[in-house]
This record gives sequence, C-alpha cells and structure tokens, in this order.
Amino acid sequence: MKVTRSQELFERASKLMPGGVNSPVRAFRSVGRTPFFVEKAKGAYLYDADGNRYLDYVCSWGPGILGHAYPSVIEAVQKACENGLTFGAPTEKEVLLAELVQKCVPSMEMMRLVNSGTEAVMSAVRVARGFTGREKIIKFIGCYHGHSDGLLVKAGSGLMTGSIPDSAGVPAGYAAATLLADYNDRESVRRLMEENSGEVACIVVEPVAANMGVVPPEDGFLEFLRDIADENGSLLIFDEVITGFRLGLDGAQGYYGVRPDLSTFGKIVGGGMPLAAYGGRRDVMSCIAPCGSVYQAGTLSGNPIAVTAGIETLKILMAHPEIYNEIDRAAARLEKAYRDIGLMVNRVGSLLSPFFTEEKVWDYKSVLTADTAAFAEYFSWMLEHGIYVAPSQFEAMFVSAAHTEGMIEQTCECVREYGEKLK
Ligand code: PLP
Repeated sequence: MKVTRSQELFERASKLMPGGVNSPVRAFRSVGRTPFFVEKAKGAYLYDADGNRYLDYVCSWGPGILGHAYPSVIEAVQKACENGLTFGAPTEKEVLLAELVQKCVPSMEMMRLVNSGTEAVMSAVRVARGFTGREKIIKFIGCYHGHSDGLLVKAGSGLMTGSIPDSAGVPAGYAAATLLADYNDRESVRRLMEENSGEVACIVVEPVAANMGVVPPEDGFLEFLRDIADENGSLLIFDEVITGFRLGLDGAQGYYGVRPDLSTFGKIVGGGMPLAAYGGRRDVMSCIAPCGSVYQAGTLSGNPIAVTAGIETLKILMAHPEIYNEIDRAAARLEKAYRDIGLMVNRVGSLLSPFFTEEKVWDYKSVLTADTAAFAEYFSWMLEHGIYVAPSQFEAMFVSAAHTEGMIEQTCECVREYGEKLK
C-alpha cells in the first residue's frame, strides 16, 4: 500500500498542529501508524491522498449514516451556499430543522442549535445547573461528552486511547463538581445521590455508552436513572450525540422508552456539517437568555448551510425508516463474523464494537481487560485489506446505508481470514 503522499502531508501537518491533527484519535498513535489523509469520499468509501480506497466503518465518527456525499444532501447544500454562508440572524430553515427534530423526538419541546456536541452538552449541563440552582453533576466513568472542562473527567474515547486519565488544564474546582459513577452500576449512583443529597443538578449519561467501545445499558438501568433523578429533584440528560437518529428516528430514548428531561444531539442531526442541538422540557429550556438568566450564544449557531444538511438528512431518514432495519441487519452480520472468530462483541442497532478480551464487556472495568496491542494488529490487517475501522479499541464501528450486502460480506470474509491468522 502506497502512503508516500499521506506521509508527506503528515510531516507538514506535524509542524503546524499538535500530533499533526485537529483531534487526537486521528493521529493513529494507539495503533502505531501514520494516518492517511483523505482526499474525497463517496458512499461507503474513503479515498486517500495516495489513491488508496477504504471501506469506511468510521463514517466521520457517526454522522455518515447515509454514506458520504449523498447526492440530495450535497445538492441542497450547494444551493443553500448561493444564498450566503452565514447571517447571524434567524432563518426559516432553523425553524424547519427544529420542527423535524421535535417530530422525531417528542421530548425536545424546546431546543437550541449549536455547533458541536461539546457545546451542546456543556450548555445542557449549564441549563440544568441554572434551573435547579445546584452545582454538582453525576457523570459516568468512560462516557465522553465532549471536551468542556467539567465533563473532561474520566472521559472515554481519545482519552482512553492515549492513556491520559484526565486532561491537564482543568481547574480542580470544576472537576470537583463532577461526581463520578460507574456505568451500569446502580449502587454507585445511589451512593453519590445520598452523599450529595439536594446538591445534584443532573445526571448526564450516554444512554448507550459508545466512547469506551459500545457498552449497552443493562436492563432497567436507564429507568433506574430516570427514577433516582426524579426522587432527588435532579434532571436527567441523555447525551444522544452518537445514538440520536442512529438507533432510530427517536434515538436511544425511543429505543429504550425512557424520556429524559434534556437531550443533546450532534453528528447525524447536522448531516455532516458542524451542527448540534440540545433541548428538552419547555420549563427548563425557558431559563435560557433572553427568556431567562442562563447564558448561551453563538455567532455561527444555526448556520444556514449546516441546517440545510441536517434538514435534508433527517427528511431522507424520515421518508425511509427502513434504513434502520437494513443497517441493523448489516451490523448483525458483522457481529456474527467477529463472534465466530472468538471475539466479544457488543452491538446496539448499527453501532458495534468487537473487543479483544474473553470477558463479557458490560462496564468500564471489563472494557479495560481488552488487549489493545492485539487490537492494533487487527486494525492494521483490516486497513491493509482496504477496510477502515476506528483506530482504537475504545470506539464504535458505524454502519451506513451505503454499505451494501457485498461490502458487508467482503468485510466478514476479511474478519474470517484474520481469525484464521489468529489460530
Ligand atoms: N457526546 C458524545 C456522546 C460524543 O460521542 C461526542 C463526540 O464524539 C461528543 C459529545 C462531542 O461532540 P463533538 O465532537 O461534536 O464536540
């Protein structure tokens, strides 16, 4: 596989950007390789600067549910560009997108559009604090909610990959207001609630943890969070940045039938553009300026081009809900291929992670039993065979509507061959 041009670009990038990248996991450090530089993408494929083609199971870390460069999305974006890129003033399209989101996710009674998942969760937590008048929050070890200070405490994702337990630069006071519970461990939540009675503004959770690899909620866990939040006057925030519009039009809250007070969406809702949303209960969201005293703003919030991509993507998903069954079935075939070679696999819908461990993976501790060196070898094998999976044991694989049966079969075959090699 020729990688000369990517290598050259990486060297230039490394002089200008820390690690040569604009987001840490892209540097491929944990798998010990030089990252490829993407030139273009179409459907289920990425093409790099050396002309190599990869079957893509990262899908830009989730947004690409329709596949890359979906024609009607691109066309709508191109048309929108002709009318100007940003106005810093309200547009009809913002209303349209919000209406679509509300139609799909009824708990989103009111919402705000922002630019990234980080901003969405950071803002939702601020609103929860403003509404309750409390400062502490409960988050789960291994759940990632973006890189805002108070949420960058025992977060998963790139932090696990880079073996950095916490970020430097986070004031101790911020971290102290973040109480840490164990995912799927009810007792740890109960204890924190008791020890901090009347002080917890919210519980924030990925309803399906997908940033320590995929870890589904155990039966009743999300219902338990709903109940304990209510009993303690705390709000429940579902961070659906990954699960939103992926597990179905109504996200994880529809999938599991648990209604949070606030939710955050990113990735798919922006159709591949920098857009995210947070929202929920009308009484809570009414605390935001200019109606109330919680401040949140953004020069590019509700950007007309990003909103256009979001609207178009949601419209396609709403018109073709069968997509969800198709991508789930495809993911189930991949799951079987991984299981057949002896790996542990967690899958929820079209999100899955094969784990290089023999233990059942159900919480943060069991995730850490995975053999990251074995994962790195597998990653390289797949890449050399033209298949791009996330460059970390602690990330999800995403299946898109552009992955055909033939592509899935090709991937299963590659996994089987890898299994033979492992024997
Ligand atoms: N929340 C979750 C669950 C995420 O997976 C991510 C990013 O992967 C974020 C929040 C942060 O989103 P962004 O990277 O758009 O800031």
